[in-house]
Amino acid sequence: MFGLIGHLTSLEHAQSVARDLGYPEYADQGLDFWCSAPPQIVDTIKVTSITGQKIEGKYVESCFLPEMLAARRIKAATRKIINAMAHAQKNGIDITALGGFSSIIFENFNLQKLKQIRNITLEFKRFTTGNTHTAYIICKQVELGAEKLGIDLSKATVAICGATGDIGSAVCRWLNTKIGVAELLLVAREQERLKALQGELGRGKILDLYDALPLADIIVWVASMPKGVEIDPKVLKKPCLLIDGGYPKNMATKIQQSGIYILNGGIVEHSLDIDWKIMNIVNMDVPGRQLFACFAESMLLEFEKLYTNFSWGRNQITVENMELIGKLSVKHGFKPLMSL
Ligand code: NDP
Repeated sequence: MFGLIGHLTSLEHAQSVARDLGYPEYADQGLDFWCSAPPQIVDTIKVTSITGQKIEGKYVESCFLPEMLAARRIKAATRKIINAMAHAQKNGIDITALGGFSSIIFENFNLQKLKQIRNITLEFKRFTTGNTHTAYIICKQVELGAEKLGIDLSKATVAICGATGDIGSAVCRWLNTKIGVAELLLVAREQERLKALQGELGRGKILDLYDALPLADIIVWVASMPKGVEIDPKVLKKPCLLIDGGYPKNMATKIQQSGIYILNGGIVEHSLDIDWKIMNIVNMDVPGRQLFACFAESMLLEFEKLYTNFSWGRNQITVENMELIGKLSVKHGFKPLMSL
């Protein structure tokens, strides 16, 4: 059985979902309440591959909210993730994806050391960040999106915002070796990590976000920001392809300007309907088929009975593993979301 650990995008979102699901007593509660709420399994999921194979999984709501980071409620945030993992394991889930901020919190706060959760010893091989599949899907969105817009990648400048992150660095590796884009712009805040990435790639310009934006034909957003940033569309090139892979979205507003094309990054569409309710609450256009690529990674590992933490640790995603998960993704009927 596979599992997905997810969370909602904001307190406001959590309150409105609680209202929609018929829990008015949760809908009126503030951050304190969500800080103390335990994890819950809220959905059972059935997926059929295009090979005909069928699998079953569970969705674990961790009750984490990004506001917990902004309000420095770090202990609450870390407890949410580790308790959700223990809950998944206790319920016999073989391979669980850590969606959205779950894997970031796990890594940034070094939660490997918290193996013992009450009477449960966490077995990390039962978990995957899902980031290899996310990075692969974002790279495919770059390739297919460029083709659709007539952007020649061998002449294109691609800015990666969040370049030193787990997903960002994997995207850089792929663009560097598999595609050979003309210019890579590396954007993040910590200079030492940027320099280390530049050294690893043997190329790439380190730039501030607002210096990079006007130069890019394609912008990949994979920064771990609790809130999106405002962008002035007038400064962008035209055409410009923006792939927003962040959760919550890295761009604060949807830009509506001719010549600027926005893709929901790191999202896949399955070829067959998935039997689940939960995707209705995350505003997908086709909730029966569209999902986060990280979640789809745990489904792929379940289809293949690969019970291993396929994506784990930071900045260790290889191009070979991206190719492997990419093949499995195609085999089982997942496609990158391409509605421009
Ligand atoms: P990491 O924490 O590994 O990396 C985050 C990157 O963002 C780092 O390079 C960091 O560098 C940079 N960053 C953070 N804040 C800022 C800022 N204000 N300005 C510029 N750069 C910034 O995260 P992941 O790679 O694991 O995840 C990246 C994003 O992808 C997240 O939003 C996550 O929620 C989303 N995601 C989407 C998935 C999907 O299925 N679609 C699956 C998993 C994750 P520095 O701190 O030096 O600035």
